[in-house]
Amino acid sequence: MNSGLKSGGSARQQRPCLSQVEVTALKGVGKQLAQKLGRLQIHTVQDLLFHLPLRYMDRTRVTPIGAVAPLANVVIEGEIKACDVVYGKRRSLMCRLQDGTGTITLRFFHFSGAQKKRLQPGVKLRCFGESRRGASGLELYHPEYDYLDADQPIALEARLTPVYPATDGVTQQRLRSLTEQALALIDDYSLQELIPDDAWRRQPYPLREALEYLHHPPKEAPIDKLLEGTHPFQQRLAFEELLAHHLSMLRIRQRIQAAGATALAPVPDLQRRFLQQLGFSLTGAQARVSAEISADLSRPVPMLRLVQGDVGSGKTVVAALAAIQAVGNGMQAAIMAPTEILAEQHRASFTRWLEPLGISVGWLSGKQKATERREQLTAIESGEVQVVVGTHALFQEEVRFSHLGLTIIDEQHRFGVDQRLALRNKASDGGRSHQLIMTATPIPRTLAMSVYADLDCSVINELPPGRTPVKTVAISQERRQQVIERVHAACQEGRQAYWVCTLIEESEVLEAQAAEAVTDALRNLLPDVGIGLVHGRMKAAEKDQQMRAFKTGELQLLVATTVIEVGVDVPNASLMIIENPERLGLAQLHQLRGRVGRGSAESHCVLLHGAPLSNQGRERLTAMRETSDGFVIAEKDLQLRGPGEVLGTRQTGEVQFRLADLQRDGHLLPRIKEVASYILTSHSDVVDALILRWLGDSENYASV
Ligand code: ADP
Ligand code: MG
Repeated sequence: MNSGLKSGGSARQQRPCLSQVEVTALKGVGKQLAQKLGRLQIHTVQDLLFHLPLRYMDRTRVTPIGAVAPLANVVIEGEIKACDVVYGKRRSLMCRLQDGTGTITLRFFHFSGAQKKRLQPGVKLRCFGESRRGASGLELYHPEYDYLDADQPIALEARLTPVYPATDGVTQQRLRSLTEQALALIDDYSLQELIPDDAWRRQPYPLREALEYLHHPPKEAPIDKLLEGTHPFQQRLAFEELLAHHLSMLRIRQRIQAAGATALAPVPDLQRRFLQQLGFSLTGAQARVSAEISADLSRPVPMLRLVQGDVGSGKTVVAALAAIQAVGNGMQAAIMAPTEILAEQHRASFTRWLEPLGISVGWLSGKQKATERREQLTAIESGEVQVVVGTHALFQEEVRFSHLGLTIIDEQHRFGVDQRLALRNKASDGGRSHQLIMTATPIPRTLAMSVYADLDCSVINELPPGRTPVKTVAISQERRQQVIERVHAACQEGRQAYWVCTLIEESEVLEAQAAEAVTDALRNLLPDVGIGLVHGRMKAAEKDQQMRAFKTGELQLLVATTVIEVGVDVPNASLMIIENPERLGLAQLHQLRGRVGRGSAESHCVLLHGAPLSNQGRERLTAMRETSDGFVIAEKDLQLRGPGEVLGTRQTGEVQFRLADLQRDGHLLPRIKEVASYILTSHSDVVDALILRWLGDSENYASV
């Protein structure tokens, strides 16, 4: 890890670089502490310098007690007026502190007898803590405090106090003093400006100045800006950080593409025959995106393309056209779906579309019988099967293709870059095929620019003609009975409905229980309706059986948890009830709603919400009523919930920045994209150093 920079050329300077100096070179850092620092990804002195404060505290000035605002970190001074143990909900020590301007309470839930003895009326204190509204007005809970002694005044801090991401056994104080040492070393060593001068629009702040400022801002620094992360020095570093991430992804792309791929020329005859028997013509957007894919495939470098298209926009046809291009060139194509149901749906479409053209469609799934599976594996390896549809089973080691030319991954909106790479590496061709990724979760442009930097993006921004948009209404639980009657009426008219039960995401168990309870209740109320149930705790076979019964129309009402979110196509279902929609993010609601409105009948979505709604809940439901455009919804979702939630990073752990924030700094991305490609072509010698500085040697990126 600490072997330093591999890059040569301009990145090497006379003095040794701080990225080559181990933390153990600092005073007071032995093996043990070095190990603990390693947990914070701090290995070198440079790492320490780029371990930036999360926030700051102002301990440079004393605030008059009368001027303390709630929820502020403040230093106050005053004299103790009273100090008592009180027995409320919890026993606590309450200390009234007064200066000329007001009174405030210090409250300690844990305290020793000795402590209590010293906090006597008349004693003068200086305290630091966060003010909050308590039972007695403004209070500081467990403030830090010092005894004030007129003869020996204690100096206030001269600068703002940084607060760092810390870990067990490495205190803030320790991090501060180590950082001071590290800053002092900048004189003797070099701290490289890695971004070439001509990549900046105007002269940037020198790195050293920015780091010194951010590690200990002067007393008069604009703390609001620092807390927001919008200070020019922070923005300068955020730019560099986002650039480093961008470069790391471009580098992956470069490495993949350097390996080359078989060029797959367009096969107009075969593709025309396919389109003729389809029964509809492509939308303009489908045609455009297909042309983009076709052009990629015909080059001798692996395609790395993402297709974003709202639910129902017709991505499957686009995938089929790409598969045909591979087959027409004598290569195989593999299509992976995330669930059995979806994979089967694709299998049915591909078989129906491709077999009449003389293309053989194979099938691999986790539930397959051993003999069938063996047969399929043999046929795939011999090349007899030309297009293989399947689940994750496609990417198991024993799957060997004869000549895989194209891999298509459907509906993987939660895939992070590392997962994409893992899949790629698992593919038996060593990952040299063209790759097409399809997602029904549009993400805002700026976010896409960051998380899909390694991919080219196409957007299917048009729905096939003849769709009537889903009518969405929000109805309070108080009118539940009416909603149930409406479901009943729809089922009696031969239509089908979904009833989606949602709970707080983390608890699949509780969610399943809620769905079971709702199913029982509905079965009691509507004995003449065939009601099915799917939830995440059911066995796959059971779930499948229920889904199938719903698809064939045997069941009219399907109660489900959010597991039905992804891609299921039942055109006759035209009514959807979503319980507690205020608990879900917009993107998820949009996905759910996309299950209806697939047929010709007018479809409805009822958002059956609890009362009263929070402001954010209300805003989300309003957004759902007002638009059915996935991109508009994605932008709104970003605005309401922030990028972590929108990207589902809580699940994937992707995109962890030290300082940058995609929402706040997203405006930098277009420029970063330009600078990144400029650096990659004209200053590629600094790329590794930039990645090392900001990402460490994170395995994901190094092992490609
Ligand atoms: P998604 O993008 O959600 O995967 P699908 O590929 O499942 O959408 O397509 C949804 C439905 O629309 C399918 O029944 C499909 O056959 C149909 N479809 C796709 N493209 C068109 C089109 N250009 N005109 C009419 N119907 C289309
Ligand atoms: Mg689909």
